[in-house]
Amino acid sequence: MIYRTRFAPSPTGLLHLGHAFSALLAFDRAQAAGGTFLLRIEDIDRPRCKPEFEAAILEDLHWLGLEWPSPVLRQSERMTAYDAALNRLISLDLCYPCRCTRRDIRGALSAPQESAMATGPDGPVYPGTCRGRGMESAGPNDAIRLDMGRALDRLGDARPGFTETGPLHPGQHLLDRAALLHEVGDVVLARRDIGTSYHVAVVVDDADQHITEVVRGADLFAATQIHVLLQVLLGRPTPCYHHHGLIRDERGKRLAKRDDARSLAHYRDQGVAPATIRRMVGL
Ligand code: GLU
Repeated sequence: MIYRTRFAPSPTGLLHLGHAFSALLAFDRAQAAGGTFLLRIEDIDRPRCKPEFEAAILEDLHWLGLEWPSPVLRQSERMTAYDAALNRLISLDLCYPCRCTRRDIRGALSAPQESAMATGPDGPVYPGTCRGRGMESAGPNDAIRLDMGRALDRLGDARPGFTETGPLHPGQHLLDRAALLHEVGDVVLARRDIGTSYHVAVVVDDADQHITEVVRGADLFAATQIHVLLQVLLGRPTPCYHHHGLIRDERGKRLAKRDDARSLAHYRDQGVAPATIRRMVGL
């Protein structure tokens, strides 16, 4: 199998050292394997994405010395593919519409009988208020959620998992059913404002782009469990995963896009060389 990986930034801000690490690592791994490094623009969240950030991403990555094949996949042009995946999950009877706002969810979770306020990769675990609703009752302002219990039941006796090639938890990882049920819960598959979600889009694109290894930050380790589950439900292959450590500031806080002082553009303006950036992130 020919190695293929991708760097998949969202154009919602300037790239920082953490992005440089992820992109350079993916690129180096593709080079070492004689494979391909792809760039994907994850711009489904239209209101937060800006063309100037997309232009800055291309400029920063070229400056770092990275190359990738054209055309670059842009998620905003792929809604038909995401709809098809969502419809497949709906046809398997694994979804329900949800009209709860964030405030409704917080309110339900602070009720005495719902004292366990677990926080999953997408925030608080949904308390299941709308779980009994059928898809025929879906209104235009509803989100669509995965019924995690039914999704796990559908796996039957299968024990799907993934191979981790990263340094933090190397080896085989089986899906953790208990964690998916209690710490992840009924994730949103289609947001009411954008009609899809990061989870669905990333799974469909990794499969359609024949990605063999996903290189990404360790902050997405829990989300990877959701992605592997969706791959199995959708009959798509599971790639290997390489979760890498996060670049932190001197206080140990992970870098954020709003932290412009550590943006690559800022270092470039200061005359820092790309080779120095490589050293700064430990490559
Ligand atoms: N767009 C996501 C991010 O910027 C991509 C993460 C991934 O799946 O690699 O965090």
